[in-house]
Amino acid sequence: MIPIVDRYWLKNAHVPASLIESDQFATQTLGEHPVSANRLPQQKRFLLTQALADNLPIQNPAAPRFCGGVATAGTQSKSKIQNRMLPTREGLTLVDLEIVEGAIARIIPASSEIFPPPSIDLRRGIVFPCFVDMHAHLDKGHIWERSPNPDGTFDRALATALTDARQYWQAEDVYRRMEFGIKCSYAHGTKAIRTHIDSYGEQADISLGTFKTLQQEWADRITLQAVSLVTLDYYQTPPGVALADKIAEIGGILGGVAYMHPELDRQLDAVFSLAQERGLDLDFHADENGDPNSICLQRIAAAALRHQFSGQIICGHCCSLAVQPPEVVSQTLDLVKQAGIGIVSLPMCNLYLQDRKSGQTPYWRGITKVHEIKQQGIAVTFASDNCRDPFYGFGDGDVLEVFNQAVRIAHLDMPYGDWCCSVTKTAADLIGLPKVGRIGVGLPADLILFKARYFSELLSRPQHDRIVLRNGKPIDATLPDYEQLDD
Ligand SMILES: [Zn+2]
Repeated sequence: MIPIVDRYWLKNAHVPASLIESDQFATQTLGEHPVSANRLPQQKRFLLTQALADNLPIQNPAAPRFCGGVATAGTQSKSKIQNRMLPTREGLTLVDLEIVEGAIARIIPASSEIFPPPSIDLRRGIVFPCFVDMHAHLDKGHIWERSPNPDGTFDRALATALTDARQYWQAEDVYRRMEFGIKCSYAHGTKAIRTHIDSYGEQADISLGTFKTLQQEWADRITLQAVSLVTLDYYQTPPGVALADKIAEIGGILGGVAYMHPELDRQLDAVFSLAQERGLDLDFHADENGDPNSICLQRIAAAALRHQFSGQIICGHCCSLAVQPPEVVSQTLDLVKQAGIGIVSLPMCNLYLQDRKSGQTPYWRGITKVHEIKQQGIAVTFASDNCRDPFYGFGDGDVLEVFNQAVRIAHLDMPYGDWCCSVTKTAADLIGLPKVGRIGVGLPADLILFKARYFSELLSRPQHDRIVLRNGKPIDATLPDYEQLDD
């Protein structure tokens, strides 16, 4: 379907408007523009003008999905017109994309103009930029068959994973499972993964060393970032300080699990000082429970402000925020916003572990208050978390599945708005990849092409027939066979 040539057009791509770099798209040369508003019949011009004035999608199905503006001074061939895309009610915009030498050369409103071949008519198929999975556990992944969680609870997950690590986690085992997870993510269209790595004692040397090997081996295909994962008290000990040094050495992110504890503020002071001294970003697991008294997120935000921390801070899970009184939520979110903390929700894992009691039907969905967080202007994203391990018995590293489940669990569909940024652009920004997770002129053509034309079509089928382009070329998206995990 995709020609193996250096220059081609993808026509009639339905792209989420929020994922297009708008400043680069806003101005088009009139002469190159297939259709401008000024060339439209009077009635359609009126509809466009009216829709612009109302800032609403065009309701007339016959009308085009974009709007040309008024030409500025100058000759027609050289003048610029401001094009403003009018997305559908789902936030999708119809565009033509020119790919030249692996990069996106032009993005223009879709037209009926026939471009010379090679051009591929996507027939309104949705196009996403490649995904960003900003919270994973590649080191734990795919141990389910040998170490399932016998009762599905968080406590048994912790204990089972620890036992598995003690018995099996030598370099060869860790490498095989981490590589398997990376292969799955790559095939599904992911371009960057941030993974937490269990980092106690000698395990840190084994797992972070293996991570480093894979990071280098996959450098041309996936950006891999590592976060240390220990309880925060570890950073008050000499091995914890050594771990911070190791994280700095490998260019990683300092992280850990925060628990409510009389010493929590002192633990946080230690972590923030270690990060500050080494110029490291921070990434915490916080409040992964349904206890209204668990306010680690608030304490982390307070510590960030106390330390005037200048790095990026991410907090994952934050489930208990959903069961706290409104005044506590308000106080916490105020501090989180002041501290510039980004929140990552892990909806599939939360649904799996939270509210699990033997023989009882679960009541709550386990996720944090993603809508309220977003309404506060705080960056909020979704990611996969665990994959076929005692913390989550399923998963394949498919961020489309994460988004799909998040839409259902958190009601992201009324309206979709810019929620698709939560697994692409916003996530990329939070982990320091400002050119990833978006579609813009000059950026690599790292795209995912779906046959689905609208969100309901996209999220109703698994989309196993998606085409993943990297640098404008389709990749072999064959998933690794599970047999690769066998001894
Ligand atoms: Zn996690």
